[in-house]
Amino acid sequence: MTQTKQVRTTCSYCGVGCGIVVEKNDTGLTLEGDTNHPVNQGRLCSKGRNLHHVAMDHSDRLLYPEMRLSRQSPRMRVDWNTAMRRAAAVFHSVIRRYGPDSVGFYVSGQLLTEEYYIVNKLVKGFLGTSNIDTNSRLCMSTAVVAYKKSLGEDSVPVSYEDIDLCEVFFIAGANPAWCHPILFQRIEDRKARHPETRVIVVDPRRTESCELADLHLQIRPGTDVTLYNAIARRLIETGQIDMRFIEAHTEGFDALKEKVFERTVDEAAAICGVRSEHIELAAGWIGETRSFLTLWAMGLNQSSIGVNKNLALINLNLITGHIGRPGSGPFSLTGQPNAMGGREVGGLATMLAAHRDLSRPDHRAEVAAHWGVPAELIPSKPGLTAVEMFEALRSDKLKAIWIVCTNPSVSLPDATMVDEALERARFVVVQDISSKSDTLQYADLILPAAGWLEKEGTMTNSDRRISYLPRLLDPPGEALPDAEIFARFAEAMGYGDHFPYFRSGPSAASEAGSSGIRSTNAGAADIYDEHAMLTRGTNLDISGLDYDRLKHSTMQWPVPDRDHPGTKRLFADGRFYTDSGRAKIFPCDDGNTSEATDPDYPLILTTGRIRDQWHTMTRTGKVRRLSQHIGRPMIEINEVDAMRSDIRENDLVQIDGRRGSLRLRAKISDSVPPGVIFAPMHWGKIGRSEKARANNVTNPLFDPASKEPDFKFTAVNIRRH
Ligand code: SF4
Repeated sequence: MTQTKQVRTTCSYCGVGCGIVVEKNDTGLTLEGDTNHPVNQGRLCSKGRNLHHVAMDHSDRLLYPEMRLSRQSPRMRVDWNTAMRRAAAVFHSVIRRYGPDSVGFYVSGQLLTEEYYIVNKLVKGFLGTSNIDTNSRLCMSTAVVAYKKSLGEDSVPVSYEDIDLCEVFFIAGANPAWCHPILFQRIEDRKARHPETRVIVVDPRRTESCELADLHLQIRPGTDVTLYNAIARRLIETGQIDMRFIEAHTEGFDALKEKVFERTVDEAAAICGVRSEHIELAAGWIGETRSFLTLWAMGLNQSSIGVNKNLALINLNLITGHIGRPGSGPFSLTGQPNAMGGREVGGLATMLAAHRDLSRPDHRAEVAAHWGVPAELIPSKPGLTAVEMFEALRSDKLKAIWIVCTNPSVSLPDATMVDEALERARFVVVQDISSKSDTLQYADLILPAAGWLEKEGTMTNSDRRISYLPRLLDPPGEALPDAEIFARFAEAMGYGDHFPYFRSGPSAASEAGSSGIRSTNAGAADIYDEHAMLTRGTNLDISGLDYDRLKHSTMQWPVPDRDHPGTKRLFADGRFYTDSGRAKIFPCDDGNTSEATDPDYPLILTTGRIRDQWHTMTRTGKVRRLSQHIGRPMIEINEVDAMRSDIRENDLVQIDGRRGSLRLRAKISDSVPPGVIFAPMHWGKIGRSEKARANNVTNPLFDPASKEPDFKFTAVNIRRH
């Protein structure tokens, strides 16, 4: 008889957070979009539609812990107890000898919230260091800083429903048609139903998203702030601002006015490389509309002036009063599925759990009391952020690193530096699901983790919506859920009484061996409850939301009591989370601090995603049909630059930067302007004859406030190989 089991879950790729119905039967898995889900109403993009193939294909899965005693020795299969004892012995020894800041954890926006919570608790509450950062640093940390500065809290004010109500979309530094497809389809639907809806796209590249645009402002890379300031100036001089809102609910307007009047619109247009009339047209549409959404992603965030770009854009919402109203607000599009959940539990080196502040003694005391540790144990200073962590590893300030669910050898900027750092590290732990991660080659200890559908937990998507993900499958081999791996490590370090979530009773404990921990998923709900209670009384209070409620529906925070329906829109009452209760308007300088071009390196390389691949392709790379769209790495180059270097379509092109080089096939395209080339960020170096890793050449510059790297602006030159 056929056995079938059906679960409702959430896509594990991007921050849109689409609902999926998965059915397991005797022949395997099938899936379809969840027609009752408020995010996607049954739709899925190419990546989500193929997730079951990834879940069923175990050909690349890590199945057992592996360990080596020196870099010269081969790795050997070991049992979990041996692996944990080894990890604990090394971490104890390094911390004893060099202090707690000599170890670091580099984790991922794809971890579940419970996993993020437990590893943060372990590192900040027990190991005594803030050296835990995440690959969300490469994605959302700029938006986090900007929201905190302008709105008083890392808080996305809007809801996806606002897309259905918006009259003017301002999409900046984002290609949602490829990177957030289901949201983009919602924008298309809005425009189809209401053709008068205006779509403005700001991007140096003419992407697929421009197909929908009424106006494409193809600015020069790095000139975003100049453009937003010019639009602000135009809005002010035409009186198309909301003075009542500005006076009642904001501060800093006069300083902004002074700043934006430093340049005329004509001067700004010349700097940006666009026409003055187009700036005036955009300002006119924004000034006249009843609802206005600004949407942005990595084009703004991944920049050495990313925070200024974010603030200058949010200013447009604030001076027009388009925030806290239906169809209006600033809306950062999250890259990863749980970047926001990670921030909620303090998953960045610069913050504490429940958005608390490391530098505030009262916040440290609250968290310490919740965790049952002395407040002095929680560090008061930020730890090393992503790029800093690997630079510290290379200079031997950091001795040991634990890398979880991410592939920094491919994804971090200046990848040669990252490789050197991992070579020099005294001890590298890699906890992952896939044997195809390039970073594994440096691992002294490999820990096999459970994947999507193999563990239980929650995630938060781009519009603050928390979803529950059930466990449907057993992990292959001896792989374990990440939360359980962290609990085992805590036990081995001697902190087990504070991490009891997966502890078994006496009989099961003997089955589990000396760790006293068995493989069970019962602890995820306990971890969630502990996290939820820590949010009580904060702006992201979810103390009214537990697994029982989440198993029936997704919900947007805050959810402060059991009867609360969740919160669609923040700041509807005009009160912000700043000390004064007013939103802050920041005048932003428009200078760019990115790497300078010069006659030796005259072109700007910008990197990004392609439609059907995800991150470093350890999952999407397994699905053949996802390679049909774009099957190999390439460089997009304008005809003008191609002719200048005698490059023809499909020629192998050498791209040299100040730190390394790349070799990719040419795709001659007018989607990039002269002076700019584009390369996808997905491909690594393993098993490729071409030098395909884009981060061979990218630079390690980052925004001084957010520490987010400048992936969108690297000076290079090109020649036919
Ligand atoms: Fe998954 Fe994002 Fe595609 Fe939705 S849009 S199916 S969340 S990858």
